[in-house]
Amino acid sequence: VSVTVRGFSDAGGAHAGTVVASSDVTDVVAAVRARDRFLSIMSHEFRTPLANIMGYAEMVQDDPLLSETSRSDLEVISRNAQHVNQMVDDILAAAVTGTDSAAIRLPLDFAELVREAGASSGPDAKRRGIRLSVETDGALPVVGDRTGLVRVLDNLVSNALKYSGSGTEVSLRASRDGTWAVCAVEDHGMGIAPDELERIFTRFGRSTSVLGTGIPGTGLGLALAKEVAEKHGGTIDCTSEVGVGSTFTVRLPLRAEARS
Ligand code: ADP
Repeated sequence: VSVTVRGFSDAGGAHAGTVVASSDVTDVVAAVRARDRFLSIMSHEFRTPLANIMGYAEMVQDDPLLSETSRSDLEVISRNAQHVNQMVDDILAAAVTGTDSAAIRLPLDFAELVREAGASSGPDAKRRGIRLSVETDGALPVVGDRTGLVRVLDNLVSNALKYSGSGTEVSLRASRDGTWAVCAVEDHGMGIAPDELERIFTRFGRSTSVLGTGIPGTGLGLALAKEVAEKHGGTIDCTSEVGVGSTFTVRLPLRAEARS
């Protein structure tokens, strides 16, 4: 049972009475339990077979006697299993977001996280034939939840790669702007129409231009990225032109002692 107690006053400000409201929250508790059970099914029952698919596909790919056709077929299997894995990650993160705000306390160097994001996306960029450059200029001390911020950067970089063509460039630039730590992720990909710039930051929001392309996605990444940035007192926004490219910019408040 959840109980709320509230006093109220008369016109002169004197205590006039108290309202006590109680409600039965059995259904809410049951719903939360059901959600947790669902999450644990998602993470264990989904991930284990996916890890097997990816592991075995990679193992067979290493077989020197394999024909070129089979090798590229296996690559398709691996890539698709990775996409499903990424979607499971996104859905899980969306389900648990909002419960981790207590974690936002650690002193971090945002510039270092940007370098890490660049390094971890290197192989994906190479596979797609995209040149990925990373520029950082001095430390950018912030306070935050490392996992959440890594997720934000990874999402922006993987989108920049995913929605750009081979032979293009993606750049990550970390810099300081007044009291802000800034990271701009710029691509020369398909771009986003002006009237869709708001919607792509909402849950499941995808631009109409990607819908026919078959590029996989859940439309959850940017909504989560926005929630995480805002939880850190920061912002995330996008400037874009269809057919030219996009720049996504994350801003986080610098730690007080680092402001000059
Ligand atoms: P997902 O990529 O899984 O669909 P996101 O929430 O990360 O979900 O992105 C939402 C939508 O915003 C994408 O579906 C796509 O339409 C658009 N988008 C995001 N990043 C880019 C980008 N760098 N270039 C073009 N479109 C993008």
